Amino acid sequence: MKKKDKDRLLLAEGMGKFARIREGSGNDEGPDNCALCEEYFDDGKCNGCPIMDKTGLVRCLDTPYPAWEEHQSIEHDSDFKDMRIYDDCPQCKALSMKEFNFLAALFSEL
Ligand SMILES: [Zn+2]
Repeated sequence: MKKKDKDRLLLAEGMGKFARIREGSGNDEGPDNCALCEEYFDDGKCNGCPIMDKTGLVRCLDTPYPAWEEHQSIEHDSDFKDMRIYDDCPQCKALSMKEFNFLAALFSEL
């Protein structure tokens, strides 16, 4: 499989993860349930990840992800292993939507 095709599949999995979060049936366990991290994240590096190719930065910096993570930690005491939409929180909904849209935009660019 060409890298581009593989990356599209991995991004689609990431979109699915955030779609399930938005439906209330899924959660975010950080790199532990990210298809892209499973493929590319290694010892703090993201070599080959299409998100890093886009931003030039590791660990999804300069994407909507850090704001989602920060909100989960500050508002919901998340330990980064069970990030989800808590208590119908509008901020959780908005931030998870931004992440979904970011992944979808990158998917369409590949
Ligand atoms: Zn929230």
